[in-house]
Amino acid sequence: MSNQEIVALGKENYMSNYSQFPVAIKSGKGMVLTDEDGKEYLDFVAGIAVNALGYGDEDEKKALLSVMESGVFHTSNLYYNSHAVHAAAMLNKLAGSEEVFFCNSGAEANEAALKMARKYGSSKGKSVIISFHHSFHGRTYGAVTVTGQDKYHKGFAPMLPDVVYGEYNDLDSVKALADEHTAAIIVEPLQGEGGIIPADPEFIKGLRELADRFDALLIFDEVQCGLGRTGKLFCFQNYGIEPDILTLAKALGGGLPMGAALAFKRAKGIFSPGDHAATFGGNVASASLAEVVLSRLPELAENASVNGAYLGTKLDEIVSKHPSLCLSSRGMGFMRGIELEIAPRDVIAKCMEKGLLVCSAGYTVLRFVPPLIAQKADIDKAAAIVDEALSELENQAN
Ligand SMILES: *Cc1c(COP(=O)(O)O)cnc(C)c1O
Repeated sequence: MSNQEIVALGKENYMSNYSQFPVAIKSGKGMVLTDEDGKEYLDFVAGIAVNALGYGDEDEKKALLSVMESGVFHTSNLYYNSHAVHAAAMLNKLAGSEEVFFCNSGAEANEAALKMARKYGSSKGKSVIISFHHSFHGRTYGAVTVTGQDKYHKGFAPMLPDVVYGEYNDLDSVKALADEHTAAIIVEPLQGEGGIIPADPEFIKGLRELADRFDALLIFDEVQCGLGRTGKLFCFQNYGIEPDILTLAKALGGGLPMGAALAFKRAKGIFSPGDHAATFGGNVASASLAEVVLSRLPELAENASVNGAYLGTKLDEIVSKHPSLCLSSRGMGFMRGIELEIAPRDVIAKCMEKGLLVCSAGYTVLRFVPPLIAQKADIDKAAAIVDEALSELENQAN
């Protein structure tokens, strides 16, 4: 079927909760995706920061083939499976955490963290969770409540009670909210959907101190910024402190659905049997790919550090070359954005025409989250296409 036929069938049968580009992806190799009409795209979206190893990775292929040969994709959590157990052990080793809960998505990982926070607080008679404006934590009721953006709440009231919002990178705003009623603080150490906004080191250190002072759990949502993306194994390692709970998803399952909530020392042992569950959590196939991703994480993080810095310099060049359309560039490693003066969608559409996939973050930011295998040649090619797209948009405006 052609792109057009598949798009038409999708429009006929899907709910209209997405505004999708009229393209259907068919196959991929390395950094390149091919659509149903045979057009190729250099991919700087990675399925929204998911496909860390790009496409057609041999290790991923071998892992999935061996799961297929075993005949078992799913066991439930009534029993153990070797893949999930190994993935949990690797996560604890890499992150320095003590315990892992597996689920299927970022929102679910955050739900687990929020329930841990409430359970932790319940024994101490407190329930308030502090979150931040411009944050994004997912679409389930708990996760969307702690998402500090009105556009995600509109029409869905009432939200979860006892959630309050501070200003990101403004420690005084958190000091005004935090007290003995605070059960947890949830924060992205690098905000993603809110517009690729890195946290100041002093802000993160201050949150750690406030959580310690009021015996609250510090939850880092690294669903997007974790797992090598910022150039460290985990984003918190850029800040020299540890959270009490770390949530992960996107890249974890190598493209299969997988999320995790990791408990560090203070959050150890909060859940007892029956407190929480996910039927598919630790799914054999997803966990087999997580083993691959985690075993390659050090090299992926190293590449994201070195070539991510290179991407940063190329984006800075683009910003200074197009001052009428671009305000600034920011981010860490392979999680970067350009703040635009125009709607990102126009730039994204032009780039797609020219064979580059990029996406937006919020209303004003053009986001770059390539597979963590991206090399300098890929970055040069992507930067040249963005440059060309912006030049054409400038000429149209004149
Ligand atoms: C994508 C994202 C989520 C939600 O993940 P889903 O898998 O879509 O539920 C949560 N937090 C952050 C920071 C994210 O980027």
